[in-house]
Amino acid sequence: MISISKLSQKEYIQLEEDYGAHNYHPIPVVLERGSGIYLYDTDGKCYFDFLSAYSAVNQGHSHPRIIHALIQQAQKLTLCSRAFHNSMLGQYEQFMNEYFGYDKLLPMNTGVEAVETAIKLCRKWSYEVKGVEEHCAEIIVVEGNFHGRTIAAVSISTDPSSYSGYGPFLGGIIKVPYNDIEAFRRAAERPNVGGFLLEPIQGEAGVIIPEDDYLKEAFSICKEKNILFIADEVQTGIARTGKLLACDHVNIRPDILILGKALSGGVLPVSAVLADNEIMLCVKPGEHGSTFGGNPLACAVTMEALKIVKDEQLEMNAMIMGNYLKDMLNNLKSKFSMIKEIRGRGLLIAIELNNNSEEAWNLCLKLAENGLLAKPTHGNIIRLAPPLIINKEQLETAVGIIEKSLRHI
Ligand code: PLP
Repeated sequence: MISISKLSQKEYIQLEEDYGAHNYHPIPVVLERGSGIYLYDTDGKCYFDFLSAYSAVNQGHSHPRIIHALIQQAQKLTLCSRAFHNSMLGQYEQFMNEYFGYDKLLPMNTGVEAVETAIKLCRKWSYEVKGVEEHCAEIIVVEGNFHGRTIAAVSISTDPSSYSGYGPFLGGIIKVPYNDIEAFRRAAERPNVGGFLLEPIQGEAGVIIPEDDYLKEAFSICKEKNILFIADEVQTGIARTGKLLACDHVNIRPDILILGKALSGGVLPVSAVLADNEIMLCVKPGEHGSTFGGNPLACAVTMEALKIVKDEQLEMNAMIMGNYLKDMLNNLKSKFSMIKEIRGRGLLIAIELNNNSEEAWNLCLKLAENGLLAKPTHGNIIRLAPPLIINKEQLETAVGIIEKSLRHI
């Protein structure tokens, strides 16, 4: 039998090192509890969570309403597979379609599974509706993307640390520079292109925001050329950027919408693909699925997590607090020459440093020491993404920690 004993942080880390695959490089803190915007390590030290599990915990850690929904449903039925109907799924699908404004939902678990689903859906639509010759469908993607870690996702990636050593890759992928409308226009001339897949703001690449016109023009080229506009809002969705979806900032309704992470408030792996009938009904029974996708527990948790987004006005809070945080960080920029740029939308914000990645890593270590958890993304960029329930006073304290840490670097 496995006995769980109290160890030192060093020992917990050593266990992971000895018994786990070495596919992550975490900040050396060992967490055991979370509440609201705070995380606590095994020694009881409290930290501001400025990562929110890569934007999965938008509603805050262990939100009591989500935990209540989890327990209530867990006592009734957690999983029965899609071999049978269950009393939650239909209600959940209706709720999701009304919430996001689509005809149909396909439930999955992780973000990358939803991306995979969207790619399959796009290919199927290309053959069945657009009339592309079998096996010839193409999808346009953009440089610097991050869509996850499966073979399809790394085939799409332009980041060598994602794809190196994992070939051969998926075919039918056309890569164009991000935020370059002429490059997209040229690629869209290809007759077999069925979809354009992109993040409306690139999170993992370091919070890269394209021009509003880029997204709008790309969308209108898609309409003109009968190409599906596929938005990966796994990280940017669910109020993170100050609107329900990042696409809402430019009034675009994607043909296929991909969601994950904060759908469940970070309580369970829940992802979703939404589209209208003409697209979604291309997939027939037996052609796609997942044992856990659409399980009753996930349905109950996700509905509650999304109701909280509305009830607690998280879009508005993300927008107001995001602007306030950016202002305070820009003030720090004027004091510390090591900061190159502050950018972001809502509470998805990046501090880009002038120097190499070691400085960003060291700053994150210092931030942890001073009670704030964040992590570099792509070398010299630190992404700040606290839970969307954060308030002004808490942000001021957090920025005090950032200033103190910058002073020590
Ligand atoms: N898409 C985007 C935009 C992401 O940011 C991520 C994860 O960070 C994914 C997809 C993959 O999600 P998951 O890690 O849940 O598979």
